[in-house]
Amino acid sequence: MGMHFEHLLDALSYEELQGLKKDLDQQGLATKRSVEEKIKKKMREFDKTCAVCLSELRFYSTSNYTIVFGPDDFKKKASFCGLDCLQYFIDHLKRLKAPKRPEQKGGIPEQEIRDNE
Ligand SMILES: [Zn+2]
Repeated sequence: MGMHFEHLLDALSYEELQGLKKDLDQQGLATKRSVEEKIKKKMREFDKTCAVCLSELRFYSTSNYTIVFGPDDFKKKASFCGLDCLQYFIDHLKRLKAPKRPEQKGGIPEQEIRDNE
């Protein structure tokens, strides 16, 4: 819950905040239900831009791809305009997941060029 959540609360009227507080006092079941509905809706919603090149995705294009990843309670979604961008994204994820190899740190080339021979 960061700044966006604060802004969200700012957008609510006094009466709506009272209603929200009342619901939270009763385990927040109504709030939970509407948040869950919103998540489902967002998941169904077609992403409008490619996550890699940010180009606009055409709804009926057959070269669009969408992947859903992450744990069940924190699903993330990304759409791509084509296989190239999907591939790029997956490569990026792989690099993030790859264990850091200390011997490659610092940009020292493995073979030093000896030009005094
Ligand atoms: Zn793209």
